[in-house]
Amino acid sequence: MNINNILIVGGTHGNELTGVFLLDHWQKDNRDFANHSFSIEFLLANPMAVDMGKRYVDNDLNRRFLRNSSYDLQSESHEDALAKNIYQKYGPDSGSEFDFIIDMHTSTSNMGITLMIESNRINLQIADYVRKRVPESHIYCFKKSDRTQSCLRSMSPFAIGLEVGPVAHNQFCHKTIQKMRLAVLSIFEGIAAVDPSANNHDSCRKAEIYAHIGDVPYPIDSYGSRLLIHEMLEEKNYLPLHQGDPLFVSLEGEIVNYVQRQL
Ligand SMILES: [Zn+2]
Repeated sequence: MNINNILIVGGTHGNELTGVFLLDHWQKDNRDFANHSFSIEFLLANPMAVDMGKRYVDNDLNRRFLRNSSYDLQSESHEDALAKNIYQKYGPDSGSEFDFIIDMHTSTSNMGITLMIESNRINLQIADYVRKRVPESHIYCFKKSDRTQSCLRSMSPFAIGLEVGPVAHNQFCHKTIQKMRLAVLSIFEGIAAVDPSANNHDSCRKAEIYAHIGDVPYPIDSYGSRLLIHEMLEEKNYLPLHQGDPLFVSLEGEIVNYVQRQL
């Protein structure tokens, strides 16, 4: 397949304004894309949530794209209606099928530039192209699950969800906006550089990725109070954990150390 049509999405979460800012900017000034011949469409996914400054109105739009038998039976929330409209307009049955989706998100966590993908050859090649060129970028892979299939970007098998952080909700932050802009433009370069028909298994095998392998629940102390992330770990994403490293701490100083079997 060739990638010709690209959908750039912002405001899937209404309190993440970096993507909202860039969509508005690019619709006024598209010089960033002057060197590309792709057909580009911009989508502000949840304008009402953006106006309210909230992640969502009724429920999380980025969990409403799971298409199964129960989908149509769900009570129709604001986001259910939005998801159906977006799917009808841009999904695989729409007739205006988009080959690639870029969904722009931000995080309050220190995630740098995180490229969230489903692990397939085209996504991996494009994400790896970006990772090699953009400082602070990491590839984060999920296994296919209801969680990943309910994301907006699941409308196409070829998609990258961008998470840039840390930035507070409802903030326009110059540094974060520039990082997101660089990431999106690098994805465009990656799409242009990668030949989707090439059998480039080697570059996929060598791509450095972080795989989601499980969650570690917060421990509860004997009084029922939740422990906190240990300060040695705060803001330290994408670094290795070693056996015995402090993981959680209680207000009274009780420490839970990392042991491999927790994952
Ligand atoms: Zn988000």
